[in-house]
Amino acid sequence: MKIKNIKHKDINKPKNAIILAEKKADINQLPCDKVVPFMKKSFDKEKLQSIKTPKHNMYVLNVKNTDNETIRKHAYQIHKELKDKETEIHVIGIDDQKLIAFIEGIYLSDYQFLKYFSEKDKKKNKLRSIKVTGLSQKKIDELKNVIEATLWARTLVNEPVSYLDAVRLAMEIQKKRTIDGLKIKVLHKKEIENLGMGGLLAVNQGSEIPPTFTIMEWKPKNAKNQKPIVLVGKGVVYDTGGLSLKPTPHSMDLMKSDMAGAATMAATMTAVALNKLPVHIVALIPATDNRPGKNAYAPGDVIKMYDGTTVEVLNTDAEGRMILADAIAYADTYKPELIIDAATLTGAAVRAIGNKAAIVMGNAPKKYFKQLLKSGNKVHERLVEFPFWDEWKDEMKSDIADLKNIGSGNAGMITAGKFLEHFAKQPYIHIDIAGPAFLESPQDYKGKGATGFGVRLLYDFFKNI
Ligand SMILES: [Zn+2]
Repeated sequence: MKIKNIKHKDINKPKNAIILAEKKADINQLPCDKVVPFMKKSFDKEKLQSIKTPKHNMYVLNVKNTDNETIRKHAYQIHKELKDKETEIHVIGIDDQKLIAFIEGIYLSDYQFLKYFSEKDKKKNKLRSIKVTGLSQKKIDELKNVIEATLWARTLVNEPVSYLDAVRLAMEIQKKRTIDGLKIKVLHKKEIENLGMGGLLAVNQGSEIPPTFTIMEWKPKNAKNQKPIVLVGKGVVYDTGGLSLKPTPHSMDLMKSDMAGAATMAATMTAVALNKLPVHIVALIPATDNRPGKNAYAPGDVIKMYDGTTVEVLNTDAEGRMILADAIAYADTYKPELIIDAATLTGAAVRAIGNKAAIVMGNAPKKYFKQLLKSGNKVHERLVEFPFWDEWKDEMKSDIADLKNIGSGNAGMITAGKFLEHFAKQPYIHIDIAGPAFLESPQDYKGKGATGFGVRLLYDFFKNI
């Protein structure tokens, strides 16, 4: 999608235009004199007005006292009306944040994952270009980078494991080396073995395809932070549950999405690097599939993790925490000021709040939570903070090892968090995105399938921290 700033005086009779109007007089800016008086008449009564003829589609959205999420949803509606026939839309606005919300709504709605259709060209939306009056090209470019990162995260998640295995995931991330200043290194099986990442290797035992551990680093000269912030993303490219096989039917249908945390963190890095945010960040992405292959790790096994902790495996389907634990412990290499992980970790998180938000918890200073929650509300990738009391830690004690990998069954999202906390030597925040990462039925501009949840959120977090 092309997005370009255009000055009001240069607007030349666009076929499709929308004005985000704060007041009646703003409608005068609509580049179609004929419809202005009519639109003005109903301005106070109707939130969204439109006049559609074969020659043009003109819209007025009353954005007075309208929150950004409502604007995104109206943009989705307009996109739905135009996507099949129109190639260009012109947006005129006064307020930056409202224009940004509207463009987000259009651009995110326009995402399609058509790779595997024989007739993909026929299915492709026609919309190619958004012209914007009222927002600087600099802000447009920044927004475009963040949205493109979000859409890339969606594509990674939508890709099935038949294409996107752990090796391919690392390769796809490595392609982003072309971004100026973004360093990317992939550790392969031999190096992972040498490091002793027992958790990642254990989960990988049942797979034909080796694991990968991808490290991304963005370290600009003008970084505000002395010590980096380390992001960790769960990259289980496919989860059968392993020997603790998931029950059928349907429980595995969406398990290609179990690497959504990895996609979110990798994409956040690209957005931050493209926009050159002055913050030093490292992302760690452990990746493997989880299968009941002939040498698969088994319930009862005791695994020695990267940091030397021993873990009794009592459910091979609690594999995400096994690979995350190694990465979280490895974060100590960087002596970070903060570790944040994102993972489609537990069904408990989905049962608790469904797909409308992610769950956040941790032991980091309150200021980080405050900013994360604020950013979440701003971009409408909302977070709900859960308690993180130490009582839950006791549930993770094993009879024969330091820890076991599964709790009693209740508050599973928190016991998982407490398990991971054990491996974090620095302030730690855990985000369970199991609910909002992937949608089984279409939800406005978030679409159907992968949502790219967390990229816009974390970008805003890093911009404001
Ligand atoms: Zn699992």
